[in-house]
Amino acid sequence: MTTFTIHALRQDDQKVLLHYDNQLSTLTWQDGTPVVPVQPGTFRDATVVSVNQPGRKGQVRILKISLGLSCNYECSYCNQRFVPHADASNPEDIEPFISQLTDALIELPERIEFWGGEPLVYWKTLKPLAERLRGLYSEAQFSIITNGSLLDSAKNEWLDRLGFSVGLSHDGPGQSTRGPDPLKDPEKHTAIMDLYARLHPQGRISINAMLHENNRSRADIQEWLKDHFGQDVRIGEGSFIDPYDSGGLASTLQSDADHIRFRAMSYKELRLGKVASFKIGHQKIMDFVQSIRTARPASALGQKCGMDKADSIAVDLHGNLLTCQNVSAASIAPNGQLHGIGHVSNLQAVKMRTATHWSKRKDCSSCPVLQLCKGSCMFLEGPLWDAGCDAAYSDNVPFLAAAIEYLTGCIPYYIEGGFREDRKDIFGEVCGVPEVATKRVIPILIQDQSVMT
Ligand code: SF4
Ligand code: SF4
Repeated sequence: MTTFTIHALRQDDQKVLLHYDNQLSTLTWQDGTPVVPVQPGTFRDATVVSVNQPGRKGQVRILKISLGLSCNYECSYCNQRFVPHADASNPEDIEPFISQLTDALIELPERIEFWGGEPLVYWKTLKPLAERLRGLYSEAQFSIITNGSLLDSAKNEWLDRLGFSVGLSHDGPGQSTRGPDPLKDPEKHTAIMDLYARLHPQGRISINAMLHENNRSRADIQEWLKDHFGQDVRIGEGSFIDPYDSGGLASTLQSDADHIRFRAMSYKELRLGKVASFKIGHQKIMDFVQSIRTARPASALGQKCGMDKADSIAVDLHGNLLTCQNVSAASIAPNGQLHGIGHVSNLQAVKMRTATHWSKRKDCSSCPVLQLCKGSCMFLEGPLWDAGCDAAYSDNVPFLAAAIEYLTGCIPYYIEGGFREDRKDIFGEVCGVPEVATKRVIPILIQDQSVMT
């Protein structure tokens, strides 16, 4: 069953019923009238990847280069912590790599991402590699995610000159879970703020924060980051972590009551406009609104990270194609398949058997947040998948509620349908709807006139 009856509260406190179909993206009032006019879009079915239907790679649009998984920090929830490292990259690898890459790419890549571990640990390789690629692909977007601890003024000038967009990983008040705080070290602080001052006016830097058990409040993170980076800080990432090992499991929500409290807090913060600096809120809500306006079928949904797509590849400097940038060619996925899925010299032969599309998972097709979640990590299995799915549900259901409130003016509080019982009561009796509904406005949405009803 993929249709849901959503119990919601109107502005005048009257209860109303809405009907939602997650496969067809229809949202109607009880009498069957659509809540907004619908203009069906044109959609192509996503490729369904699984061990029996291996993912293929073709014309490359997004190129993710993994320099290696070494890092100078030790985040307890890091998805790379226990990944066996392949051979480290070094500057001698660059020319053979470039030669294989240019032979393989039929068209210019739109975007090139440089990944670690901590990519600046690989400075001696990163610098000549990025300069070489900039010479070849002058129009490509360059991006890098760094913890900022190895920046200095010369690197900042270089990142600026080469046109990089930078994601600076920092969890705000929850930073201690990641390790030391580079902002507390005067020299590192100066270097980070120098880069920030260079790139912020051009919209080329965001502070990327993750939510976890000890860092649950986007409002607290936003306040902390505004204090340190200014009122107009842009916050990237912003979702609840997926657990990849025991450290990740310990950093996820632990009990049903925890989940309920998190959902209620997250929704309340959204509605009070306290998380407007997070890109994720706006993106998720608008994406859902668009799914309803265009009747986007679930069959068009790929995985949330996009690494199941044929036009997105992750590659190391030895030319090994990887499931994604967070694994190495030497590592094995939970389903027993090798994360090394082929070689850049023969893209046609790549077969990704490590991933499982959401449609092959037990609960995704019948999940009310499918259109927002798009499946948790595509290679997780077993208890890690279960915990990731639980966190993903609680992370996404407040965005679903906010989007439905935006479209209807009604606050959803209970979802009826053929899915897990423990997920139906969105905010739970402990928090209750009146507690959540302290202010009937979603300021985060008022900013975007283009999607006003
Ligand atoms: S919350 Fe879980 S069941 Fe629902 S779509 Fe996401 S991964 Fe699938
Ligand atoms: S497969 Fe996707 S979600 Fe999973 S670790 Fe890789 S990038 Fe992240």
